[in-house]
Amino acid sequence: MSILKGKTAVVTGSTSGIGLACARAFAAAGANIVLNGMGAPTDVEKECSAIESEFAVRAIYSPADMAKPSEIFDLIARVENTFGSVDVLVNNAGIQHVSPVEEFPVERWDAVIAINLSAAFHAIRAAVPGMKKRGWGRIITTASAHSRVASPFKSAYVAAKHGIAGLTKTVALELARSKITCNCISPGYVWTPLVEKQIPNTMKARDMRRDQVIHDVLLAAQPTKEFVTVEQVASLALFLCSQDAAQITGANLSIDGGWTAA
Ligand code: NAD
Repeated sequence: MSILKGKTAVVTGSTSGIGLACARAFAAAGANIVLNGMGAPTDVEKECSAIESEFAVRAIYSPADMAKPSEIFDLIARVENTFGSVDVLVNNAGIQHVSPVEEFPVERWDAVIAINLSAAFHAIRAAVPGMKKRGWGRIITTASAHSRVASPFKSAYVAAKHGIAGLTKTVALELARSKITCNCISPGYVWTPLVEKQIPNTMKARDMRRDQVIHDVLLAAQPTKEFVTVEQVASLALFLCSQDAAQITGANLSIDGGWTAA
């Protein structure tokens, strides 16, 4: 299936987890790939080489910091210069901080909002003119079940993800006649480093053991009692890039084992 042959996909936060799975799925569908995120440059270069040889596409890495608007702008400009276009933009970079609101460090609030919400605005703002000029584009943002419902101790994350749902709808309406769709995907708990890293703080905030956090906090919300896989999220993202998905825009698609059905 080469539905993205000749197209270029920028996936922010793709050095691990959901972003890396999306990048690999898009490469398998023929897209040139721009990886981005934190990580040892040598490891990421290795991943680029693996994608290039496995899928016969080009893959480059940008270390742009999604907390910095000027670096996001430069990333989009560099990709347009290198490949001629940004056809698919996946705003996926994200961080989490778990803390009661009255103790929430202001600096962490600012970082979560910058990386999980404002970065999507800056990237969309930079990529849309080129997409409009070429008359095609796919904008996908990784939101979260937390774009629909809240959990205690995640004020910044929940605020950012609710913001993504609103940004997605607004951009979709603005681009509705331009053959550019804009959607967000809202996973429940996906087993990735982001989830693993929040376990210690949740243990502290809730005074629980590790296994209790996994079963009574994380999977407590997920009726299927199973983690979503990164490949399942990537398949949905790839579908949104297809012609069959051309009329899906402004949507917030849940992939959460029934979490938000409750
Ligand atoms: P992850 O930690 O594996 O990936 C996060 C990515 O973001 C990494 O590549 C990291 O390097 C990158 N990143 C972090 N800060 C950055 C910055 N300042 N600039 C550039 N890149 C940065 O976690 P993940 O679970 O794959 O998360 C990806 C997205 O999925 C996030 O937006 C997250 O909120 C969302 N999400 C995850 C889950 C889950 O259960 N894992 C559920 C719902 C939504």
